[in-house]
Amino acid sequence: MRIVVIGTGYVGLVSGVCFSDFGHDVVCVDKDARKIDMLNSGKVPIFEPGLDQLMMRNVEAGRLRFTLDLTEAMEGAEAVFIAVGTPTRRGDGHADLTYVMAAAQEVAKAAKDYIVVVTKSTVPVGTNRKVREVMTQTTPELDFDVASNPEFLREGAAIDDFMKPDRVVVGVETERAAKVMADIYRPLYLREFPIVVTDLESAEMIKYAANAFLATKITFINEIAALCEKVGADVKQVAKGMGLDNRIGKNFLHAGPGYGGSCFPKDTKALARIGQENASPMMITEAVIAINEQVKRRMVDKLLDLCDGSFNGKTIAIMGVTFKPNTDDMRDAPSLTVVPALLGGGAKVRVVDPQGRHEGEHLLPGVEWLDDPYAASEHSDLIVILTEWNEFRALDLTRIAGGMKTPRMADLRNVYSAEDARNAGFEGYSSIGRPDMA
Ligand code: NAD
Repeated sequence: MRIVVIGTGYVGLVSGVCFSDFGHDVVCVDKDARKIDMLNSGKVPIFEPGLDQLMMRNVEAGRLRFTLDLTEAMEGAEAVFIAVGTPTRRGDGHADLTYVMAAAQEVAKAAKDYIVVVTKSTVPVGTNRKVREVMTQTTPELDFDVASNPEFLREGAAIDDFMKPDRVVVGVETERAAKVMADIYRPLYLREFPIVVTDLESAEMIKYAANAFLATKITFINEIAALCEKVGADVKQVAKGMGLDNRIGKNFLHAGPGYGGSCFPKDTKALARIGQENASPMMITEAVIAINEQVKRRMVDKLLDLCDGSFNGKTIAIMGVTFKPNTDDMRDAPSLTVVPALLGGGAKVRVVDPQGRHEGEHLLPGVEWLDDPYAASEHSDLIVILTEWNEFRALDLTRIAGGMKTPRMADLRNVYSAEDARNAGFEGYSSIGRPDMA
């Protein structure tokens, strides 16, 4: 099959590469000439484990190419996937559909024969119908169908998630579009996974409902963690005891510094907005959004306690600034709340992150970037584990503590324990939802 993917970000590029690996003939299109130049010279503009090898394999096999020219890319295509960004619209929390609608118009102008226009971007209920309207207005005689195919991949594990999905969700209106979508995903059928074929609105809703539910689960355990700190319980034990119940499940019960990333913050806000617009308020989701902000601010208070009430003149070493490990994505990361608060309070901040520097340099002005956790913590007053990269999971804590001015640690991912810290010579240790070091 001939497929076009519009947008070569985390979702578009992974989808394009994986579709080509299924054996389809794929052209990826982006408006960003720098990205297309990089891709054409064999470089991947984002960090996603395994993506570069898979991309090169399919480029070399002649199944995958990159271009700025949508019209040329559309020649003979049977489906075009829209995988452009849908960021939060300034001011009202609504998903900004400017890029999706612009792409739909461009497709309508470029298409000649029957095509299925598939929205892979996360979009509010009703958007696929608007895509259809925009396309019909642009080229009234065009023969096409729309389809909704929300994406559930996780950055950092994107290829595996795409190749072995828990489910594929497809929203369609016609048998013809359903057949095209089935042909695209047929290579996955060998692995027996559930495919949910439904209407457009349900498909759009599934994505928001799933993300809001996951954000709620994280926020629930973060709230329980705050209470654990007050009553002397250990949230790790609590989460284990809860998660062993199959009805609850153990995933997404890790207490931490609040959720971030490119999806949960914007998708929860968009769902809350959809609820408001339809006079059906999403009260749980609205509470989750507010609590998550509190969680991030609570982290700042924790660090302040470890700095005896003032950041002024302190040197603080931050381990990890991306929103989670194995990605270079910094969008809405907790570090964007925590680090400016430290700098604003007069601290000197050193940062180590295996992949975050490129993005982080614009987003966190005023910090010093280092490659080595030991060098970063040398003569510092506090070390903070903010993202649980593998590189920070087995640090030589004795060496770290020995080099620090005041050996204190804020372990915001519960990687270590108060006992580990005490044995290594730390004089202060605070984590999430567990007793601090006495
Ligand atoms: P991104 O910002 O990384 O990439 C979007 C790309 O689209 C950019 O390269 C941009 O230049 C390009 N683009 C915008 N308009 C264009 C146009 N008219 N023609 C060609 N290219 C255009 O975004 P992303 O993180 O890949 O997310 C894309 C969508 O997928 C969003 O709706 C997001 O919510 C959803 N999603 C993301 C993830 C994730 O983990 N990142 C997971 C599931 C779903």
